[in-house]
Amino acid sequence: MVSEFDLIQKYFTRPSEHTLLGVGDDAALMQLRPGKVLAVSTDMLVAGRHFFPDTDPYRLGRKTLAVNLSDLAAMGAEPRWTVLSLAIPQPDSSWLKPFAQGFYDEAQAHHVDWVGGDTTSGPLNVSVTIMGEVEQDLALQRSGAQVGDDIWVSGTLGDAAMGLACLNNQIRLAQEGKDFCVLRLEQPTARVDLGLRLAGLAHAAIDLSDGLMADLGHLLTASAVGADIAFAALPQSVALQKCPYPAQVQEVMLGGGDDYELCFTASPEVEQRIVEAGRLAQTQVTKIGTIVSTRGLRVLDPTGALIIPKRRGFDHFAEQSAQQ
Ligand code: ADP
Ligand code: MG
Repeated sequence: MVSEFDLIQKYFTRPSEHTLLGVGDDAALMQLRPGKVLAVSTDMLVAGRHFFPDTDPYRLGRKTLAVNLSDLAAMGAEPRWTVLSLAIPQPDSSWLKPFAQGFYDEAQAHHVDWVGGDTTSGPLNVSVTIMGEVEQDLALQRSGAQVGDDIWVSGTLGDAAMGLACLNNQIRLAQEGKDFCVLRLEQPTARVDLGLRLAGLAHAAIDLSDGLMADLGHLLTASAVGADIAFAALPQSVALQKCPYPAQVQEVMLGGGDDYELCFTASPEVEQRIVEAGRLAQTQVTKIGTIVSTRGLRVLDPTGALIIPKRRGFDHFAEQSAQQ
């Protein structure tokens, strides 16, 4: 029988790069660098709700950290430490080993120390907390958008939701397109480097976890402004360009979740600096619209007509409340 202690020793105890005291004591000890404030975010992933229970465990390990890294990226913060809390039905090493390796690889790729966590038996459930540093005045908030700002997004939109539609057999893509979209779903890339370069440059930012309409909507509400977006300007992957179902493409690009791209606003005066930030971060950045004073989010087609999306984005409680 494997004990909880053995599991922690075997899978969850990894070397740290910049931590005073890591795994093994009652608490970890970390030192912030001078002039920095602590940025903290946490995310819970529940099997059957956020991922299929049979998802590749290595990819899942990477993703559980990536979705947290994405939150810090959207603050313009540098990720430094993480803790992982895990409920697992049984100590199955064929699952735990690749999962822990994926989590650790993602941490190492971003110089994040894995400094602790909690391990218990129960229905599969993974909760990650990430801690990072940012200069107080430079943190990107949702509330900073100003009328006249350009609106930008990183990467391409809708791929992850298209990947999910493929896995659910709701849509069929060519094998290459399917593989790309499923990879985007199962192993998203957090835009950490871009976020750091945007700190002090962009006015406001949010990461796209629930879909462009929903998440940009949160940013607009927090900033008390509106936005006009050109659908034709939205960045589309080759896989989506090749997809023969335009209605579904539009739906996932506007309302599909799990892309973990950054959406941010900045003065038109810094356009060249934003382009340069994208180039240095090796991340595509695309200008998609403008912040306006009229509240609400308007998406226009090439004729100037308003597009009314079928779904605005993902809301965990929307289904339940619709039934009540
Ligand atoms: P306690 O009983 O005080 O909560 P635990 O026995 O749960 O302590 O944990 C012992 C040590 O192992 C702690 O330092 C804790 O942070 C670490 N730990 C437990 N689970 C994990 C995990 N999933 N990932 C990383 N560290 C873990
Ligand atoms: Mg514990």
